[in-house]
Amino acid sequence: MPTKTMDLRDAFNKTNDRIADAATRSGRSREDVVMVAVTKYASPDQIRNVVELGQADLGENRVQQLVQRVPMLNEFLQRKKTLAGAASKTNDVTPDQIRWHMIGQLQRNKVKQVAPHVELIHSVDSLRLAEELHNYAARLDTTIDILVQVNATGEPGKGGVIPPAVRHLIDSIDTMLHLRPRGLMTMAPLRDSPSETQDAARRTFVRTREIFEDVKNAHCGGERFNVLSMGMSNDYEIAIEEGSNLVRIGSALFGDAPAPDGVASDEG
Ligand SMILES: *Cc1c(COP(=O)(O)O)cnc(C)c1O
Repeated sequence: MPTKTMDLRDAFNKTNDRIADAATRSGRSREDVVMVAVTKYASPDQIRNVVELGQADLGENRVQQLVQRVPMLNEFLQRKKTLAGAASKTNDVTPDQIRWHMIGQLQRNKVKQVAPHVELIHSVDSLRLAEELHNYAARLDTTIDILVQVNATGEPGKGGVIPPAVRHLIDSIDTMLHLRPRGLMTMAPLRDSPSETQDAARRTFVRTREIFEDVKNAHCGGERFNVLSMGMSNDYEIAIEEGSNLVRIGSALFGDAPAPDGVASDEG
């Protein structure tokens, strides 16, 4: 799978083009959709390379990997800045800062490791986790932006809140001064064939979009509730067509590497 810079550049450009095309099909433009590069299977070199292509939003689903990679990237950006010195390099698209996204399941005892480093936590799926995040944020007198993860198909054993429980959880989070509910996240289920998987993905995204609109319309802080995180390498175009404004892309950029414990997110 691609490890060389050229391959990554091609994959990066192609993915950005496809995002733009899908956005156009849904009456929007490339700027309306955020791409988070999911680095869980990426090597440190690949991560530095994608950042040098201008990628500022990175996502991890494992706490351990996240907390290792945050300082690694900070150091890299610092070093680049120092090397660049006062010379203004107009064609350097490297961002000044990384925006890290926690996209995997988060255990309550890992909150204090993760919260200081991330821009957005996509995977809040229980009141107890929300309370833990809120307590942490209150102690530091800060605010944490979160998404509620939805299990739109209601399949047992999958991460996320079932649709009828979403409103209630968000209403509860709304009372927590140090948490900001910014939107919803979902993952499509796997099916036996590619075409069934695509159909199931579209249904999942349509359903999640409906819930998103419902909550947004009923929600006091309406304007800030504006992130719909749906779509991965195999289904991001469908997700964008159905209203996603944030896609989480791993293997389409970096290639697949088998995770030691399969694709399921966990707490390394
Ligand atoms: C791994 C992962 C992704 C990216 O998956 P790809 O299929 O490699 O694009 C997106 N979201 C979550 C929650 C993930 O764990």
